[in-house]
Amino acid sequence: MGDQRWSLLDSNPSAPTSRRHTILIVDDEPSNVRALAEILKDNNRVVFALNGADALLAVEEERPDIVLLDIMMPDMDGFSVCREIRDNLEFAHIPVIFVTAAIDIESEVKALAAGAVDFINKPFSPPVVRARIKVHLALKDRNDELYHMASIDGLTGIANRRTFDRVLDLEWQRAWRSRSPLAVAMVDVDYFKSFNDLHGHQAGDDCLRIVAAALKGQACRSNDLVARYGGEEFALILPGCAPSIMADLAERVRSSVADLAIAHGASSVSPSVTVSLGMACLGLSCDGNAYPQAAEAARGGGGGLVKSADQALYQAKQSGRNRAVCVIEPIEGLETGH
Ligand code: GH3
Ligand code: MG
Ligand code: MG
Repeated sequence: MGDQRWSLLDSNPSAPTSRRHTILIVDDEPSNVRALAEILKDNNRVVFALNGADALLAVEEERPDIVLLDIMMPDMDGFSVCREIRDNLEFAHIPVIFVTAAIDIESEVKALAAGAVDFINKPFSPPVVRARIKVHLALKDRNDELYHMASIDGLTGIANRRTFDRVLDLEWQRAWRSRSPLAVAMVDVDYFKSFNDLHGHQAGDDCLRIVAAALKGQACRSNDLVARYGGEEFALILPGCAPSIMADLAERVRSSVADLAIAHGASSVSPSVTVSLGMACLGLSCDGNAYPQAAEAARGGGGGLVKSADQALYQAKQSGRNRAVCVIEPIEGLETGH
């Protein structure tokens, strides 16, 4: 194992992939890693880290289903690693189990307070370890399923409002940390009430499904998110969308819906279904270094971006519908209409 950061241990490649989980073993003593891996590798994909810092990197890259964590390690102990996993919105749901020779009450309480779900004492019994991990993985699967169900909009199958809020929070923090651009778009179907009135509610539902799919086709980079914000309104989160490309992207989104050519017999703006959208982008200004540091507090994080996109949407509606209005937040206040 030497100075490797983490890597795949020789897992059984013939185990059925659909049911295989990834288990991260963290221990500064390679022989402990080997012993645990030996017990678990037949039914799981096993990765390891030999110190706390590498464990956190492995969590980020491998997205394990469970973490088996040693308490006593040099530099960063298991408690700190566990706390860092818990404090990260993205990883807080990953169960952490301490595997440790420290069986005193104080350590146990401290581990639970740090967010561990269970304890395995060293020296361990292989059948007990296997059985315990199986129970925790089954619970994790159930939780993941419930979480998935709670994140999706029932009608369109895309992310719901709750997921939008959660992801916006994450992406806002990420953009803030890395000083990278971030855009939000609010998209609203034009004259949708009259569409329902004329074509029926069922056709309205079908229309929303098709529009949702079209929007997903335009916001398809790995961290993009398309959500149903409510009713006939959709919201897009576009990490990395810089001011220079925002207007093009907004126009692509608008035309992707118009191009569907879904007949709308009661729209004043087009014979087919159209959307209006407002997009707001946070990014570097032209001189490259004026990231709006003071704006975070003033604008209320990602919520400020939504508010600006919403105002831009209002302008798009006011100025005729079937168009996009973009604003660059909050330095220039630049605006381009289509
Ligand atoms: P505007 O161009 O100003 O956006 O006008 P609009 O008619 O689209 O806006 P309004 O807010 O007046 O109406 C929205 C309509 O969307 C009313 C509501 O019945 C319909 N709607 C909301 N959710 C659903 C849904 O899940 N299915 C269907 N079929 N219609 C829905
Ligand atoms: Mg509407
Ligand atoms: Mg609306």
